[in-house]
Amino acid sequence: MSTSPPVRARLQLSAPASTKPPRHLADLDAAARREAVAGLGDKPFRARQLSVHYFDHLSDDPATMTDLPAAGRERLVAALLPRLLTPERSLACDGGSTVKTVWRLFDGALVESVLMAYPGRVTVCVSSQAGCGMGCPFCATGQAGLTRNLSTAEIVEQVIAAARGLARGELPGVRRTAAVSNVVFMGMGEPLANSPAVVATLRRLAEARPDGFGLSARGITVSTVGLVPAVDRLAQEGLPVTLALSLHAPDDALRDELVPVNNRWPVAEALDAARRYFDATGRRVSIEYALIRDVNDQAWRGDLLGRELRRRGKGWVHVNPIPLNPTPGSRWTASAPGARQAFVAALVAHGVPATVRDTRGREIDGACGQLAAAAPAAATAASSRDTFAEASADGARRRAQ
Ligand code: SAH
Ligand code: SF4
Repeated sequence: MSTSPPVRARLQLSAPASTKPPRHLADLDAAARREAVAGLGDKPFRARQLSVHYFDHLSDDPATMTDLPAAGRERLVAALLPRLLTPERSLACDGGSTVKTVWRLFDGALVESVLMAYPGRVTVCVSSQAGCGMGCPFCATGQAGLTRNLSTAEIVEQVIAAARGLARGELPGVRRTAAVSNVVFMGMGEPLANSPAVVATLRRLAEARPDGFGLSARGITVSTVGLVPAVDRLAQEGLPVTLALSLHAPDDALRDELVPVNNRWPVAEALDAARRYFDATGRRVSIEYALIRDVNDQAWRGDLLGRELRRRGKGWVHVNPIPLNPTPGSRWTASAPGARQAFVAALVAHGVPATVRDTRGREIDGACGQLAAAAPAAATAASSRDTFAEASADGARRRAQ
């Protein structure tokens, strides 16, 4: 089988010019919030009250904010807590413990987030861009190109919306007391091509309440194709988030095709940057590797990857091989279980830990690389609850077949 991709995608490293989404409290740090409130003619301490409502009570409804004077409350909320995400469609699977939501943004752009509940842990997978300019040929998001960068608040809002859904008991398969514990930047987009907004999001998520969402930075993973200068800058931010490097091939000849940005920052440079990230943060790096049948899943490639990682030290990295989620129309498919095992064994032989990752959300195109934000027209009028129920029943039917 030829390994060349069907279309050689063009790289788009920076986003096209676009109108900015409305300003939101989550775009601002505590000092800027006070200034913004003062600029609206209100007492600066109201900024903290608004932050408590948003990050602690997950509310943007002026009716609940009885500690704010009734006169002017609506105005403050309209100015600092505009709704940035409108649900277009929600789909659930895995017994209601995985939910994908398609969001419409202020300018009509569509993005997706996925909530995955496990015993003792709830992970939200967020989008950092509408579309993606990196053009990886095996990824659904990469096929449509980049529409625009998301703002900090548009990313934070995906997490808050998930937390709200949990708190309101809207998820059929999840206890109401469950809380968001992890955030992974593995939805649409290349987070490090939108670094300023993503770094501000990391701060907002990790800051203690009420200034931020109060999540442990250790529970956050930023996944990147390896934009080396941006990886180095992230390492210096003082935020101990986990870095995931989407490698997918240990040799430049193949990675140039699977991850076109490799033409700019080849395997050795990406791995060196990953190792520097570990040195700077002490956080073990994850290497993401989508196993594609007869393309990158040969045991010799597992062996080469093991050697390249071990050459850079011990205990600094682990590998997440994940069977490819084939995208519609792709002639590539997932590796056979035997090849998967042989690949993992080749890594383990070098003392490199490798765990095959959980692939939640396949049935609803919510798994890694499947997010394309195609919103079927028929879904627009359906309430979330109806679509959850529909999707759960559909999932159960398929599992039973
Ligand atoms: N742009 C970033 C983050 C979003 S993609 C990145 O590429 O790292 C999140 C993860 O999904 C990446 O590891 C990506 O390589 C992987 N992925 C993309 N398409 C996939 C597919 N079809 N099957 C399995 N994983 C895929
Ligand atoms: Fe973009 Fe990541 Fe998809 Fe590549 S794999 S196109 S970087 S979202």
